Amino acid sequence: MSGGTSLKADDLIRSLKDQFSQFSDRRDPLRIEIPMEDFLISGFAMYSLKFPSLLNFETEMKDKRNFSNMKGLFGVERIPSDTRMREVVDEVETEELRPCFKKIFARAQRSNILANEFSIWSGHYLLSVDGTGYYSSDSICCEQCLVKKVRDSETEELYHHQMLCGAIVKPGNKNVIPVCPEAIQKQDGRTKNDCERNAMKRFLLKFREDHPKLKTILLTDALHATLPNLDILEIMGMNYILSVKPGSHETLFKGIEKWETLNQIRTVVKEDEIGDKVKKKRIREYRFTNQILLANADVKRAVNFLDFVETIQWVGKHGVLKEKRVHYSWVTDLSIFDSNCEEFARAGRTRWKIENETFNTLKNQGYEFEHNFGHGYKNLSVNMAHLMMLAFLVDQLQALGCSSFRRAFVRAHETISRLWEYIKSLHTFFPVQLKNWEMLYGVIFEPDEWIKVENLKRE
Ligand SMILES: [Zn+2]
Repeated sequence: MSGGTSLKADDLIRSLKDQFSQFSDRRDPLRIEIPMEDFLISGFAMYSLKFPSLLNFETEMKDKRNFSNMKGLFGVERIPSDTRMREVVDEVETEELRPCFKKIFARAQRSNILANEFSIWSGHYLLSVDGTGYYSSDSICCEQCLVKKVRDSETEELYHHQMLCGAIVKPGNKNVIPVCPEAIQKQDGRTKNDCERNAMKRFLLKFREDHPKLKTILLTDALHATLPNLDILEIMGMNYILSVKPGSHETLFKGIEKWETLNQIRTVVKEDEIGDKVKKKRIREYRFTNQILLANADVKRAVNFLDFVETIQWVGKHGVLKEKRVHYSWVTDLSIFDSNCEEFARAGRTRWKIENETFNTLKNQGYEFEHNFGHGYKNLSVNMAHLMMLAFLVDQLQALGCSSFRRAFVRAHETISRLWEYIKSLHTFFPVQLKNWEMLYGVIFEPDEWIKVENLKRE
């Protein structure tokens, strides 16, 4: 850690709680029994401690010890019932959660973690953005639900929620820094379903508002490599490396074919050997050109194109030659040369981190993204998804810049699910009140040492 700003859980959570205390509260002031920040921090705590459901969380919190730990770890004075929590969080305007992301992100900037661990190409940052679904039901719905017809049915409908999520990523870095997501949902006053492309527009505008000076290179799938999007990116001063596909970008690929016959496509081939037990040959072929049309609709809009094929060959059992191949194509506004085409392909491929390191982690590594934490009538489902993303952000920053977290992680054999188990079991069964996260991680890292010190204090 450097730069003087702490990325320790205790400080990050205090910062969040501060922000939560500034949320508007529409409840009758005379009937406020639990402050707003306790509702939000309790929701956050549920994800932070990886509880599988709101009810499970509430049941556990009825235990006196659990409750006193909540006070130490999250500064919660009173924990609301699950029913009350649903009611109150449902009424919170989702946009009020945005400054929380900004505030925590600013800490990552001030601590230098962002610059040291994520910057590429003289201070640029790769922002990978993609949509994901996290809820679907044929009966329970809210004002924000997207609706689709069930296949082969005239009357049945399916309600669902999707979210456009973005994270700062870097090749070779296992961690990511998520930014505020944008719900793909019915917009105010509209009856029509929202779509991922519209959500992307809102996402980019709000991202730029939150981070006006961040030198950003956007990474998306082929859905977003469109002329209107390139216009928006230009206005906002953002660079891009966007996936393209022959099926969705016909003009571009026809142009490439034509330029190929004219010898206008530059090809660079790199070969090396990989693998320990089984030696494998890796062939990487980069084909690129600068200033080609993305679509006929705008003859002024030229893009730079990079095509990348990686082939890995090895001799399998019984002497059979095996082969694995991946193929990607991108367009970018940055110029491509022999000297940087490899780096471009590496950066373009980092887009997958939003699926692998973000969605998969959220869905399969304790956060239970697809579980239903209560649906509500207005914003509950979307707000809970935001609180979950905040918990993920806080965890990621600790992994990047908190030495106590890292030591506890090593103790958990560098398996994140095991660390969550340790934390939850200590939270539930540890005989002494946990005063803060430092203490929690200390107990995980050196339990014997901790007991020795405590005994000395008592003597
Ligand atoms: Zn809904």
